[in-house]
Amino acid sequence: DHGLGFWLDKRRRKTPDKPAIVFDDDRTMTYRAFADAADRVAAVLADRGIGAGDAVAYLGENSPEFLQVLFGCAQRGAVFVPVNTRLAPPEIAHVLADSGAKALVYDAEFAERVADGVEAARVAHVFLTGGGAPGVPGLAHHMRDVSPHPADAGVGLDDPAAIIYTSGTTGKAKGAVLSHGNLTWCAMNCIVDYDVVSSDVALMISPLFHVASLGMGALPVILKGATLVLEKGFEAGRALALVERHRVTMLSGVPTTYQLMADHPDWASTDVSSLQKLTCGGSAVPLRILNAFEERGLSFSQGYGMTETSPGATALSPAMSREKQGSVGLPHFFTDVRIAGENGERVPAGTVGEIEISGPNVFLGYHGLPEATAAAFTADGWFRSGDLGYLDDDGYLFIADRLKDMIISGGENIYPAEVESLIAEIGGISGVAVIGVPDERWGEVPWAVVTLRDDAEVTTASVRAHLDGVLARYKLPKNVVVVEELPRTASGKVRKPDLRARFGRRG
Ligand code: ATP
Ligand code: MG
Repeated sequence: DHGLGFWLDKRRRKTPDKPAIVFDDDRTMTYRAFADAADRVAAVLADRGIGAGDAVAYLGENSPEFLQVLFGCAQRGAVFVPVNTRLAPPEIAHVLADSGAKALVYDAEFAERVADGVEAARVAHVFLTGGGAPGVPGLAHHMRDVSPHPADAGVGLDDPAAIIYTSGTTGKAKGAVLSHGNLTWCAMNCIVDYDVVSSDVALMISPLFHVASLGMGALPVILKGATLVLEKGFEAGRALALVERHRVTMLSGVPTTYQLMADHPDWASTDVSSLQKLTCGGSAVPLRILNAFEERGLSFSQGYGMTETSPGATALSPAMSREKQGSVGLPHFFTDVRIAGENGERVPAGTVGEIEISGPNVFLGYHGLPEATAAAFTADGWFRSGDLGYLDDDGYLFIADRLKDMIISGGENIYPAEVESLIAEIGGISGVAVIGVPDERWGEVPWAVVTLRDDAEVTTASVRAHLDGVLARYKLPKNVVVVEELPRTASGKVRKPDLRARFGRRG
């Protein structure tokens, strides 16, 4: 029973001179140097009395330090709390207070944004990343001065390793407590299902504070002893240059990052022949992007997951991507998925119900929210995802929508995601959200809230005309409202509770 600190130490012994991390274009850090640095972080924490169960927040761009702090915490049994750099000051304050952070490590550029939160949450120890700022020594400075302690304070797989906040799409962000075992088994799932090998070179095109790039990108690569290439902020042209320069074999990202790469002027002239494993999750990959990559002989593994499952739940192998188009694949190797009807009963293949998940990657619970935690599990211990979907006869999962977003109109279920994907195709529409609005006759009716590109024009009638004959009549929006901007989370998802509040849905 040994945690992340234990296996990084194993990595150091097995492949000490192998490059673990490439950063700042061409600088490399070996597994020995990486693990030694993590030891030093652990020692800095120990000297300040930070140990088992204490939360350590990290707010910064991708860098070796991010991962050194993660593994330094792991050795001490402290709990790593990655913070999304796009959060607004009150959201950062929520994460610091809610997690009870004892320490915060942050990039100097965020100083103003963290100030109120640090004070309100009384964060005891604050460190700047790197060398620090004038007059304020950075973590690297403390790491130089410390003498490393003996490794591994007996941290086990069932101990909490991280609190990662959900995106806050359906309400206030909740802190999902992930154990060392959860993260390790998610990494194992990825190694098995994506064929991660020690010769892989993985470019992190998404920020490490996202649970997907951490759990499905960085950790499997480190566990397997492959090499990570870190980029500070994502810029498509630079990403393409790095793919060519480092002969990158593996990328993990969200549809938007891939789209930006395929749309970049350097796309056609970049040598992408080294790429073998592309993983993409968070939402469905639009066909246009699939095709752009396929023209270059590249195909994706699409996946479905959530913070609570560390995060990988299912994956669709590239070989099946045409045959099972629209599916998010089979459950990961050590993970299982089932579909529950309204009363929690099993439903037959093809029937939509709530997606339930079990496996060693399913989280321990929500930090400080015992009721929400109890409500998130069935009596027999499966996690209720809050998403709706169905399994086909071969056990492939298809996502319908979120349970909370489903609209019931005159007794018929409407999945907004289906309507939204068709409205998004209409020229001139740049963003769309379909929500249920109270209606005396039907209970609820669908409305579409849209944003437009420059001087485009749409009307309720024009949108309905586009959908007529493609969708059942009751799914057509009764009203199309144009807004300047859709309310979105830091990860870019539309906040539907805000829209429902604005357009009058009860509850
Ligand atoms: P909150 O739980 O705070 O409301 P959130 O659910 O958006 O926010 P995340 O854990 O970041 O927070 O996102 C997981 C959710 O994203 C899933 O429950 C699902 O609704 C959606 N999702 C993930 N992958 C896919 C996919 N491949 N296709 C469609 N939806 C997906
Ligand atoms: Mg969620």
